[in-house]
Amino acid sequence: MAITMKATLYPWLQETWQRTQKDKDRMPHALLLSGAYGLGKYRFASLLAQSILCNETDQYGFACGRCKNCQLFAAQSHPDFQLISPEEKGKAIIVDQIRAWINTVTLRPHIAAMKATVIHPADAMNHNAANCLLKMLEEPPLGNVLILVGHQPERLPTTVRSRCRWIKLPIPNRQMALEWLQKTLPSGQAEILLQQAHGAPLYAQQLHEDEFMQHRDLLLGDLEDIARQQKSPVVCADHWQKIGALRSIRWFQGLLADMVKFTTTGDSAWLVNPDMATRLHALSKGLHLKELFQLSEKIAETGKLLNTPLDERLLLEDSLICWLRLYRNQR
Ligand SMILES: [Zn+2]
Repeated sequence: MAITMKATLYPWLQETWQRTQKDKDRMPHALLLSGAYGLGKYRFASLLAQSILCNETDQYGFACGRCKNCQLFAAQSHPDFQLISPEEKGKAIIVDQIRAWINTVTLRPHIAAMKATVIHPADAMNHNAANCLLKMLEEPPLGNVLILVGHQPERLPTTVRSRCRWIKLPIPNRQMALEWLQKTLPSGQAEILLQQAHGAPLYAQQLHEDEFMQHRDLLLGDLEDIARQQKSPVVCADHWQKIGALRSIRWFQGLLADMVKFTTTGDSAWLVNPDMATRLHALSKGLHLKELFQLSEKIAETGKLLNTPLDERLLLEDSLICWLRLYRNQR
């Protein structure tokens, strides 16, 4: 059954959209939209917010794009819509922002039937902000829908999470994601980048735009040089930070997963970096599985710490020093 949806919703989100629309008459006052980085959560939240404000939604629940509500929304000046984001990229959402919002949210809507608010990313709320929001969630004012968007919802207090209806956006099936990516990416690259992006198409596309294929080669070169003790982890950390700390660490996670696979099964099927198999095989030789696992867990933890106030430079250095130790221990 092919349903013609508006082009603005990514194909892998259509099923979730339909499910959301089924309950539209009983729309909860708070939704928590979660899912991996690069799935289009924010786009989904915007479309949902617009559809809540629109007077003339179509049969699939999409906003009409023509009415006064839609026009104001598109111009980012709808008086009944609010977006709460960190005031500076990478910073926290603070309690003053939530307080200011609460002061307006209890007032009646100006022109739409309901008010809509998106908090993005919701996991950027600091402790005080989340607590302040909680009070509102305990006694929600009528005529408001709040949409929390985040790819690390576990960072939110349980008390906040439990008061929201949780919508988890799925990783699309590989075929669907590749078909979508191949419209803009060369086919060989689409597959590798999708692997790097853990199946998230928008993340894969972003990696392509940022020339990550070339960067990945440099990152692996650094790891090889550190393993041979020809380059210092501190120098390489500088390099990794320039490429992007989070991106580099995410890639490192995938690389370690590949090395664990090599060490346990000797198998090169379904690698995250299939085109690097020979180099990875060489790096895996003689390593202890237990130490590889420990490093893999540590890097996964580091990935979670990268969006916190901890110094990313130090986290990178520490990660690469652990990598060096893996090879020093071999001797
Ligand atoms: Zn409309």
